Amino acid sequence: MGFVRHSGRIDRGYKMPEATRLSELSTSMIRRMFEVVAKAKSEGRDVINLSIGEPDFHTHPLLIEKACKAMHEGFTHYTSNSGLDEFRSLIAERYGLSSSNIMVTAGASEALLNASLSFIEEGSRVVIPTPNFLSYFTYAKLCRAKVEQFYTHSNNFEVDVEKFSDVVSRDVSLVFINYPNNPTGVVMKDLKAIAEITADNNAILISDEIYDSIYYDRKPETLAGMENVVVVNGFSKNLAMTGWRVGYVVADEDLMDSMLKVHQVNGVCASAFAQKAIAELMQDEMDRKITEEMVKEFRKRRDFVYSRIKKMGLKAVKPEGAFYIFPEVPVNCIEFSEKLVNAGVAVTPGLPFGDGNENYVRISYAASTEMLEEAMERMATFVEGLNTE
Ligand code: PMP
Repeated sequence: MGFVRHSGRIDRGYKMPEATRLSELSTSMIRRMFEVVAKAKSEGRDVINLSIGEPDFHTHPLLIEKACKAMHEGFTHYTSNSGLDEFRSLIAERYGLSSSNIMVTAGASEALLNASLSFIEEGSRVVIPTPNFLSYFTYAKLCRAKVEQFYTHSNNFEVDVEKFSDVVSRDVSLVFINYPNNPTGVVMKDLKAIAEITADNNAILISDEIYDSIYYDRKPETLAGMENVVVVNGFSKNLAMTGWRVGYVVADEDLMDSMLKVHQVNGVCASAFAQKAIAELMQDEMDRKITEEMVKEFRKRRDFVYSRIKKMGLKAVKPEGAFYIFPEVPVNCIEFSEKLVNAGVAVTPGLPFGDGNENYVRISYAASTEMLEEAMERMATFVEGLNTE
C-alpha cells in the first residue's frame, strides 16, 4: 500500500481533512509578498523592509529587568484566567471602571478571537469598515459569517455615521472598528455614534484600541464602558513587546462571562511574569513615559515620510496615530509592491486590508530615520520611473 508523494505531502487518496470553516481562508497574498522579499534577500539584494507591523524598538530594559525579577520571585505559574488582580485593577483604574470589567489575554489577537467566537453568530453579517486590520476578515470567516465591507475611502478613512446606520441592521451580530487605524493611521472623531447604532441593533461592537497611546495630535477616544462594546487593547505596540503576548479586553460582566468560556480553553492566561512586570511599570506611570519616548521618535518619522510621499505626488491622508501611512499608488498594489522590492523597498499591498484597496499600499515607518531616508529616496526614483513608463 504505497503512499504517493504529491507536492511534498503524502497523498492517501482522499481529500485533505481540513475543516470547512477554513475553506474561505487563505494566506496566499501575504505569503506571496514574504516570498518576493525572501527571494530578493537570498539573492543578496539590499531590501529595506517597511512592511513590519511592530515597533522597531526593543523592549525597554526596565521592563526586562522587572520581568526577570518576577520570574525569580516565582511568577512562572498560571495566573487566574482573568489575570493578576493588581494588574487588572491598574488597567481598570485608567478607564474609571472596576477589575471585573477587565480580562487579561495572551495578546490582543487572543482577545479578538475570543470575542469573535463568543459573539459572531454563524450565518449572520459581520460589518468591517475597509481598509482595516486584515485579521478581522479571518475571524469573521472562521466563524462562518457573511463579511459586509464598508468603504471609508471617500471619508478620509473614517466611518460615515449616516451610511453606517444604513448598513447595520438586526442580522448583524458584530462590527469591528479600529482607531487609530491599521493600515491608515487615521484617528476617528465621534466614535460614540457608531457604538450607539450597533447597540440599537443588538449587535456587539469590537473597538480595537491597540494603538490608543501612539498618537500625534488629538488623544483617541475610547468606547470602554458603552453598551454592547468590547474594547480590545494590549501592550504589544505601546511597550514594544509583541513577543511577550499580553493583551486585554474591557467589557461589562455579562459579555465578559461569555468571553471567559472561550479564553479558559484558548489563551488560559497571559504569562505571569509579564503581567507582574507591566503592573509594576504602571504603578508609577513608567509605561506612559516609555511610550511617550517612542511616540516622539515616531512623530518625527511620520512628518518625514508624509512629506516625502506628498513630494512624490502620491495622495495620502496624514496619519494621526499608529505607525503606518496608506498612500494611493498609480498602478495595482501587487504590481507596485513587487516591482518596488526590486527597487530595494518592501511595503505591504493594500488588498489584504479589504476591498477597494487595489491602489493603495501600507508603509510602516517603524524603522530608523536613516533607513527611512534611504527607502524614501529609492521609492521616489521608482515612482518617477512609473510616471514616465
Ligand atoms: N489589532 C491590530 C489593529 C493590530 O495591528 C495588531 C498587531 N498587528 C493586533 C491587533 C494584534 O496585537 P497582539 O500582538 O497584541 O496580538
